[in-house]
Amino acid sequence: MPLVNGFHLIDLIKERKVVAGAFNTTNLETTIGILNAVEKSKIPAFIQIAPTNVPLSGYGYIADMVKRYAANMDTPIALHLDHGKDFQNVKDAVRAGFTSVMTDNAKYDYDENVKHTFEAVEFCKGYGIPVEAELGAIAGKEDDDVTEGNGMTDPDQVVDFVNRTGVNLLAVAVGNVHGLNLDPNINFELLDKIRKVCPVPLVLHGASGIPDNQISQMVNYDVVKINVASDLRTAYIKAVGKDYVSDNDRFDLINVALDGKKAVEETVYKKIQVMNKLSPTLVH
Ligand SMILES: [Zn+2]
Repeated sequence: MPLVNGFHLIDLIKERKVVAGAFNTTNLETTIGILNAVEKSKIPAFIQIAPTNVPLSGYGYIADMVKRYAANMDTPIALHLDHGKDFQNVKDAVRAGFTSVMTDNAKYDYDENVKHTFEAVEFCKGYGIPVEAELGAIAGKEDDDVTEGNGMTDPDQVVDFVNRTGVNLLAVAVGNVHGLNLDPNINFELLDKIRKVCPVPLVLHGASGIPDNQISQMVNYDVVKINVASDLRTAYIKAVGKDYVSDNDRFDLINVALDGKKAVEETVYKKIQVMNKLSPTLVH
């Protein structure tokens, strides 16, 4: 089917009481690995790319690849911009055909965050696509995407932030971290406080290092989207590295690329199962 609008994807997720994985791609192999796993899982999902990973492909190739592959899929897929760091990133992705975006203004103080987020929301309204924004600052490092500070989301700011920006999805900082070098520990009490007041669904970043038993509880806290990046990248790099170590004279690039794709596919499939463990409507 054609790429699905992010608003529609969120509706489908809420209707089915499942969680959408949001999986970061970089190239053709990771794109196909992610989409194969999503199709097999039958659970709607986001595929996404951050500006940090765009230097290889540009937004256009990623959009073309995803659209082409999704055309032969039965499971709904939305294409999302992850961590749009400035307004230009948002414009570039939307104009390339992305169907959902994140504007990340966590580096600013509260009022500046509101101002920049509002600007992105107004722009995306014209295209009819949802905007995700971050309140608080998720710690850690994802490639060269460094978030400064380590502020948890303040539940007292949530309603004001959503109302003033008009944002459609809220990424929370509740003990989740980016990358694999810090120890995440979800503060469920804080997550519950945020959930109770937040007028829009929640997004969890940095799921790679979070224990499975915490990930599988997210569906009960109005989390509709869970981001996974680092685990896919390490799976891909390890698979390719293993092939090289097994025979450093090999030249069958196709088999090495296929092994990388397969490692990503297996990792994504497992993550989708973990995210939806508690869902009564999970389709195996
Ligand atoms: Zn993130």
